[in-house]
Amino acid sequence: MAVEERAAAIVLRANDYGDADRIVSALTRECGKLGGIARGLKKSRGRFERRLEPFSHVMLYFRRRPHGELVFITRAESSGLEAFEPGDDLAKFALGAYMLELSEALIREGIDCAAAYDLLSAALGELCRNGASTALRQAFELKLLRWAGYGLDFNGCRRCAAKGEADGVRFAFVVAEGGLLCDRCRRGSLSGGLTLSAFSLEQLRRLAILPIQSAGAQAAASADAVGAIDRFIAYTVERKLRSLAFLQSMLPA
Ligand SMILES: [Zn+2]
Repeated sequence: MAVEERAAAIVLRANDYGDADRIVSALTRECGKLGGIARGLKKSRGRFERRLEPFSHVMLYFRRRPHGELVFITRAESSGLEAFEPGDDLAKFALGAYMLELSEALIREGIDCAAAYDLLSAALGELCRNGASTALRQAFELKLLRWAGYGLDFNGCRRCAAKGEADGVRFAFVVAEGGLLCDRCRRGSLSGGLTLSAFSLEQLRRLAILPIQSAGAQAAASADAVGAIDRFIAYTVERKLRSLAFLQSMLPA
């Protein structure tokens, strides 16, 4: 039998399987993203002191199976790990559920995820302590996209050296470029562009580099930027996230 391993984990998604089992997707600090099955979860409260459900932050004990199948989850303990509990605050729940789904969509299995785990953990902690805000949402999106290799660039034109509105150069965000094109470079290009205000560009640049812990208190970039990043994420993950409509209703841009 495979050796039992353990890893600190945040449950991203969980679905009942049959009467007693549960299938989960979890982001772990030590072992990357894992898909696992917890057998007899409802009957054995001892082994699973906290239910395995989205937002659960647990030490996960598991055994691997051959051929990359779902791991067998043997135990889950919550001691010593920060609890992420949105309570009955619907805006917190909506943004947290969106963070979990975005992580599930952008993070592949089989790669080192320690930095992504640290980012998600810090973002959920900040959310549960201080509440939902568009700035926290944007900082999380920008940082997770960068970690996943889809870093957005709001510093200047992707194709030429043009930088800054001060020179009278105007920019638009082009989804397929993952950043800005100046008016000159955009001319003759088939890709449309989304105009972002100078204020939004400035805030996006700030939120991208600030620690996630201080992002929530900042001014957010405006609705133009929220729409642009939504479009980019849908383009990148090739679908619209299920949690997005609820987030938009709970935390309007
Ligand atoms: Zn240009």
